[in-house]
Amino acid sequence: MASGKKRVTGISAETLNLILEVSRSTHPNEFAGLLRATKGVISDVILVPGTTSNDTSARMLLDMMPLDLSIVGSVHSHPVHDLRYSSADLNMFGCKGPYNIIVAYPYTEKDWVCYDPSGKIIELQVVDEEQESA
Ligand SMILES: [Zn+2]
Repeated sequence: MASGKKRVTGISAETLNLILEVSRSTHPNEFAGLLRATKGVISDVILVPGTTSNDTSARMLLDMMPLDLSIVGSVHSHPVHDLRYSSADLNMFGCKGPYNIIVAYPYTEKDWVCYDPSGKIIELQVVDEEQESA
C-alpha cells in the first residue's frame, strides 16, 4: 500500500481556472507547465517561461525545468480542438509523472483531460476549496 507513489484524486478549481486562463491568453501558441500537488490535490501549476508555437518546443522547455519532488505531472495546451495526445506527448508523460493534463481550444471547463503515462484517462475531481470552508 505505501508504495511511496503520489496519489492524486483531484484538482483545485482555482488551479484549473488558472490553466484555462493561461491557455486562452497564450492562444494560438501553446503553453506548458508542471503540476504540483498537496494532500492529493493538484493545487499549483509551474508555468514554463516563454511561449512557444508548437508542441515540440513546449516539451523541450519542460525538459529544462528543475527536478522538484512535489511535481506530479505536466500540463500543456493544444491550440486546436483536440484533446488526444500525440505519440510524442505520451513519451513526455512518462518523464514528467503519473498525471498529465491536456487542455484544448476553446479552453472551457470541459476542454481538458488527464492521462496517465500509458495514455489511460484519469478522472480527476474538481475541488472547490472556497465551498469547503464556507
Ligand atoms: Zn500535445
